[in-house]
Amino acid sequence: MKVDYIIVGCGLAGLAFSHRLKEAGKSFVIYDNSSQKSSMVAGGLYNPVMLKRMTLAWRADVQLNMARPFYSRLEIELQKNFDHPIPIRRLIHSPEEQNNWFQACDNPVLKSLLYKDLIKANHKGFDSPFGLGEVNSTGWIDTRKLIEAYKKVLKNKNLLRHEPFQHKEMITTTENIQYNDIISEQVVFAEGFGMKKNPFFNELPLTGNKGELLTIKAPGLKIDFILKSGIFLIPLGDNLYKAGATYNREDKSDLPSERAKKELQKKLSKLLNCDYTIVDHIAGIRPTVKDRRPLVGRHKKHKNLYILNGFGSRGVLIAPYASEILYNHIESGEAIPGDMDISRFDQDLGRASFSS
Ligand SMILES: Cc1cc2nc3c(=O)[nH]c(=O)nc-3n(C[C@H](O)[C@H](O)[C@H](O)COP(=O)(O)OP(=O)(O)OC[C@H]3O[C@@H](n4cnc5c(N)ncnc54)[C@H](O)[C@@H]3O)c2cc1C
Repeated sequence: MKVDYIIVGCGLAGLAFSHRLKEAGKSFVIYDNSSQKSSMVAGGLYNPVMLKRMTLAWRADVQLNMARPFYSRLEIELQKNFDHPIPIRRLIHSPEEQNNWFQACDNPVLKSLLYKDLIKANHKGFDSPFGLGEVNSTGWIDTRKLIEAYKKVLKNKNLLRHEPFQHKEMITTTENIQYNDIISEQVVFAEGFGMKKNPFFNELPLTGNKGELLTIKAPGLKIDFILKSGIFLIPLGDNLYKAGATYNREDKSDLPSERAKKELQKKLSKLLNCDYTIVDHIAGIRPTVKDRRPLVGRHKKHKNLYILNGFGSRGVLIAPYASEILYNHIESGEAIPGDMDISRFDQDLGRASFSS
């Protein structure tokens, strides 16, 4: 069987890249063994504003303009609704934070994304004496629903193989790659934290950051926006809310931990004055990079091996953008922006690196 591409991984990265291929009429097969869960457990938020520092997130304006149409095309194709555009409201804790908010509203870059007037409403489930600051152009993607629906379609078309990709069994030539019964022009690795086991790219500085989320039932909360105060609370309907997430650089297992549960419970008790019960607890490893930029590019020695990774905690916005960049690089020779290109680590790793 001959294809244009093999893709390893069907999280947000593999999904976005394969969809780009489909739109361009290229053929592909995806391998995914469900060994990583980041995209399946993600809160799915998209928010162009870094609320801690009140700055625009890295290229978020460009990414947002690509992401919204991308997810809406997928909604039409898959005939499912998974984009939930709703505002994020940040709880303001002090007069100083109020000032910071007003200052940010005057920033020309953020102006169109923030509402200047703080919202002073009474909410039963939590106190907000200093008001709430609202960000627009935000929402959340039900990433699990999206990936499950996408995989189902791929499976029906025989384009998805649910098995581990064995890197050592690839036969690479200058012309193409042979893997089992497949001959492919290119291979794109979109393995998330699974990249650590990829002998061709595992020297890249992917650190990984474990995240955990709770789903809670809180009938007394009654909010129809995403509430941000240390943690996010995302309304799912039926009085259910996703609450999270935690960040842990040490623990690299993707099992829910008692420690994270306690941490989230502590933050919830501080924030909420209504009762809640925990109905679910999930965990995954975010593919984070030390300089917080994606890992996109070509292997130094094997010219038909590529990587698409390092989306950190912002995969929903970055996936369509980084996929487009990689696609245009492979197919049209367009340059990858220097801050995303893996060649930025050449010096750290030495020229001999990536030559498995
Ligand atoms: C708790 C939590 C909350 C988050 N919340 C948000 C959020 O609100 N908004 C946001 O934008 N981002 C969020 N993120 C981050 C987001 O999930 C990631 O940026 C994104 O999902 C990474 O996608 P990926 O495809 O690169 O990696 P993954 O989702 O890890 O996908 C990699 C895929 O490759 C497969 N794979 C790996 N190795 C192999 C192999 N050898 N053979 C076959 N298959 C293989 C794995 O099974 C997996 O399916 C969150 C992450 C976590 C953990």
